[in-house]
Amino acid sequence: MILIMLFLWTARHQGEAPCFQPMRFAQRTLILDAGHGGEDGGAISLTGTPESQINLAIVLKMRDICGFWGIPAVLTRAGDYSLKDSSADTIVKMKRSDLEHRVELIEASKPAALISIHQNIFSTPKAWGTQVFYAPTGGSEQWGVFTQSLMADALQPENTRRSKQITEDIFLMNHITCPAILVECGFLSNGEEARLLEQDEYQCQLALVIADSYLTYSFASE
Ligand SMILES: [Zn+2]
Repeated sequence: MILIMLFLWTARHQGEAPCFQPMRFAQRTLILDAGHGGEDGGAISLTGTPESQINLAIVLKMRDICGFWGIPAVLTRAGDYSLKDSSADTIVKMKRSDLEHRVELIEASKPAALISIHQNIFSTPKAWGTQVFYAPTGGSEQWGVFTQSLMADALQPENTRRSKQITEDIFLMNHITCPAILVECGFLSNGEEARLLEQDEYQCQLALVIADSYLTYSFASE
């Protein structure tokens, strides 16, 4: 299924500006971060699916797509577990040590580029739509803005959300030094969008567009 979609995707882009230029990233390690995991399921969809599960499904698809294009990716997690310290005995310590280990992994992979995948939630079911946040690091803002517009063009033409800098309370995105974006793929509190986010086909589409943003975006501004 992914290969068919890749074919269709590249066919659609023929004649436009060059899409896939893996050589530009030869010196950079792509890190894919599936948010949450293990005892930390993150947000829960209306049908009871934990965010951590959807995040991982999208990341694994992105890994396959990027691999197909010759870009090996490093995953912060490849299963339903957290990177917590074995000595962590409270939820707060587990969460903190999990995030610290993710930062260590990313910083050990310099020079890197990070894509963190999450799902959103809001107090009312009305909110919907992908939103891309960027880290306060060189190259991130332009990459985030580019990814937001690509995702809106490809998947959600009526999405008017803008890419924003991540807030200071998000530990991971404020403790790494590489270009980084965090993609809130959609709202699990919106019934229609939650159903889409749980579908294999929609996850493939999201993975394709986000991978495309990495393969297309140039870090020339750094
Ligand atoms: Zn999350």
